[in-house]
Amino acid sequence: MLDAIRHGLVSKKRATCPEDPDERARHIKSFAYFQDTPMVGIARLSEAVKTKQVKSLAAGIDTTMADLKDAIEAPSKSMDGHTLAIILLCPFNRDPEPDEAGYLWMQNAAAHRGSVRATETAVVLANYLRVLGYDARAHSGSASDVDFNYLTVAAGLAAVEGDKLLNPFVGDRFQVALVTTDFEMTTDQPIAPLSEQPASLTSGISWTLGYGSAKNARTLDPFDKRSYASGPHPFETLKRVKTPTTHIDEARVARVPKRADMFARSKFGDMGKANQDASKGGYFVQKSPLAQALRRPLGAFLVLQDGPSAQEIDPKARDPKSNADGIKALAYFLGTDAVGISRCPEWVWYSHDANCDPITPEHPNAISFIVDQGFDTTEGSSGDDWIAVVQSMRAYLRFSLLGGIVAKHIRNLGYKAQVHTNIQSEVVHPPLLLLSGLGEVSRIGEVIVNPFLGPRLKSGVITTDMPLTHDKPIDFGMQAFCEACNKCARECPSGAITAGPKLMFNGYEIWKSDSPKCTTYRLTQKGGAMCGRCMKTCPWNVEGLQHERPLRWMAMNVPAMAGILAKLDDLVGNGQINPKKRWWWDLKWQPDGSCEMINAEKAPPNYRQLQTDLKLNYEDQTLAVYPADLAPPPWPFPFPMDREKGIEAYHALITAKEYQRRLDEGVDTPTTHRLGQPNEAPVIRVEVSKAEQMTDGITRYDLVSLDGTPLP
Ligand code: SF4
Ligand code: SF4
Repeated sequence: MLDAIRHGLVSKKRATCPEDPDERARHIKSFAYFQDTPMVGIARLSEAVKTKQVKSLAAGIDTTMADLKDAIEAPSKSMDGHTLAIILLCPFNRDPEPDEAGYLWMQNAAAHRGSVRATETAVVLANYLRVLGYDARAHSGSASDVDFNYLTVAAGLAAVEGDKLLNPFVGDRFQVALVTTDFEMTTDQPIAPLSEQPASLTSGISWTLGYGSAKNARTLDPFDKRSYASGPHPFETLKRVKTPTTHIDEARVARVPKRADMFARSKFGDMGKANQDASKGGYFVQKSPLAQALRRPLGAFLVLQDGPSAQEIDPKARDPKSNADGIKALAYFLGTDAVGISRCPEWVWYSHDANCDPITPEHPNAISFIVDQGFDTTEGSSGDDWIAVVQSMRAYLRFSLLGGIVAKHIRNLGYKAQVHTNIQSEVVHPPLLLLSGLGEVSRIGEVIVNPFLGPRLKSGVITTDMPLTHDKPIDFGMQAFCEACNKCARECPSGAITAGPKLMFNGYEIWKSDSPKCTTYRLTQKGGAMCGRCMKTCPWNVEGLQHERPLRWMAMNVPAMAGILAKLDDLVGNGQINPKKRWWWDLKWQPDGSCEMINAEKAPPNYRQLQTDLKLNYEDQTLAVYPADLAPPPWPFPFPMDREKGIEAYHALITAKEYQRRLDEGVDTPTTHRLGQPNEAPVIRVEVSKAEQMTDGITRYDLVSLDGTPLP
């Protein structure tokens, strides 16, 4: 699929981006590093290397994409104007051992894995340059028009040693993908032969102890001393519990239609014209050219989220424990940050999908993934500036790619497997993260916090009928911590996060936030694109470094210290902006295809400092919630949101203790469940014959019944 979209349309107008070639190279390389490509070089492209020959650096890459062959071989435009190549190098981690979980599925796959990960970045970079109005094409191990070997050496990423290309840090254990373009930048020089490199490069004290660069002897391969199945983070050290640390009344959880999602409600005009306009064509994402570049492959992967399974079940994939370990190993081998496995109960499924069709839960198991949104970029950001939406899209794309591979693998083994991404999901993710031990409920609301990544994560889920053993929920002290801290509520620019207690909402005990406030801010704010300031400022937004371990241990094991630790976090300035890490350009794309640098005087990008002096009182907050009985029916019609009713509904929420007391006394609860109710209404298929914008901002639709059923 990445090969199918490696080239495409170029914006007609060129962006008003910086022209300095050094600055351009810095920016493009930073974007590649942000996407976790560890080594990047830029080389001049000569006619001699546009040879239409694929020279894979590692053996074993072949083109086995018959289903996409036509797309890959579609007539391509000329590369005549291309002058430069950006080379993206992805090293291999260690080879899996024959006796470790998942070995049969991972053996001999390092080159393919490296190629996929490098190509992910290449396709996104090429797309970005085309959005900026420059021609660019990605080249992968399975579809290329240029000589990889020559360009890798020319860009200084490897030296020729005998009959091999060797990189000074990882030898010949790497794969590359690249981008050719007419976007002029400063190029790199080739490196001297390895025999002439300083001996200290990979054996000196800095390299060994890890000073001076993020990658070093200790961090180069996270699986050097760990099995793939156990992942890069020490999940085995966490306390496991039988049930999540917040109450879930499983019998009464309300299943709601996808139509109740706040982004869907914005799109249908339920939340006013400003939200609806911002949603048109996904403008709240598209307005950032970086996010637009990431969004395109995300859309392309949609067609790969599900598919047919092999007719026979692989006899080696019948044992639930070995399957669970193998799937985790595979997901970590590919590069996800954390995986957990749980049951997939009926109550986590939406009642109706985005087409308004009822959903029948089919798969009993869920494999939940989380992807880090990137510590360094988060540190440089205010959380609600022009990089916020890009961080989200990057993490969503990563899951869509890796989850898609794992699901396809499960289907190849003879089981059903469906990927649920941010674009199309039939399950609600947060409860699955709780059940699979990937985190706990936090004050932020629907955001689950992980002990190693904090709230700086995006999730994705694969549902399947593959037999799998389940993980248990975790308890790392988050409930006590959030009781004593309200930094996210204090820093939220829309005032959406409660400073009050946890309450029962739709059957879940959570710190229920005002989702319409949050969604409206994310869609319509002018100083950036989207928001993740709560994630940025949370004390659990940590890098996972050695020196953080004592604090993490204390937060997990001494609940009484939570308040002091939260204050300490403010005192040391955590959550401030680190200007050195602001690598991106503040560019804004317009639907007419123009793309300009933001005028900081006319439209200053958000650059917030911590509001440590702000005393936030729960009593002063006005919050609104929309439980299942106020949710829209699954039909694609406007269903205006009534804020007064939402405020009333918030006041009617009760604590888990009171909820249980009422249930024990046989009294109904305010979150009366609505499971199955939408199915009871008749379905009439209609077509919109006319849409008219009224002066009050509401859109009026004229409808025609498609099957002759009279319209009510
Ligand atoms: Fe508030 Fe932004 Fe977090 Fe929404 S995403 S809750 S607006 S800080
Ligand atoms: Fe909990 Fe504080 Fe993080 Fe908010 S900022 S989620 S209250 S720890």
